[in-house]
Amino acid sequence: MTSEQTAKILKTVKEAFLNIFFPKKCVYCGKILGYKSNLSLCLQCAGKCMTREKPLRDFETKYFDSALCASYYEKHMRNAILNFKFHAVTYLAPTFAHILLLKLKEDFRFAYADIITCVPLGRARLAKRGYNQSELVAREASKSLSGEFISNLLFKVKDVPPLSKMTAAKRRRAVKNAYKFNNNFDIRGKTVLLIDDIFTTGATVNECARILKLNGAKSVFAMCVCETRQKGLFENDLHKENFDERKNLYNSDKRRV
Ligand SMILES: [Zn+2]
Repeated sequence: MTSEQTAKILKTVKEAFLNIFFPKKCVYCGKILGYKSNLSLCLQCAGKCMTREKPLRDFETKYFDSALCASYYEKHMRNAILNFKFHAVTYLAPTFAHILLLKLKEDFRFAYADIITCVPLGRARLAKRGYNQSELVAREASKSLSGEFISNLLFKVKDVPPLSKMTAAKRRRAVKNAYKFNNNFDIRGKTVLLIDDIFTTGATVNECARILKLNGAKSVFAMCVCETRQKGLFENDLHKENFDERKNLYNSDKRRV
């Protein structure tokens, strides 16, 4: 048996095992799928993207040119991201990449980036987790894009406490100088697509974009699988309106099925 065949069998066994504890479900609606299906999206939800371009007004200084998020961090998607991040449910990477690619079609500046990269993890966290979830998604997505995939364009050099409970201002301070550029690469005049898993205030992608621009990147486009919906932050703008409209559409779809 070749090592390739062995790896394939091990992968199948791992997936079957994972399926017992984390049955393959549609990341949008939670419908249980067979573990043999490649993507964790049911037919009804495939092709749905529920967000719009991120508003940019809550930044003191914005370094990235534009940001897109493919879904909201809630319900089934939230569970899927948490399993992906903390329970090694890495088979979700192609699903998240697929969702990103669907969203990417909305803005071709993102799709034609020269370089595709990801937000890095710190060394300790990477050693503990064994993988960088954003890297897995970026690597998968890059297979369908023309740009070069570089996983180590940035390094995380500062320990940042979990950002999830911090205010936007605290997040900005916490991530300041947390990333360093890898001088083995030359990105002068290049367009970079930066991929991450969750967009909350955008502090992380903004800081990464700052470093990339400082090292000559012409443009930085940020793309995240999910965005959190912070109460009050987006009121009175299109955000909610758009979501309600799409949710109604989605519900009427469901009734037809
Ligand atoms: Zn579904």
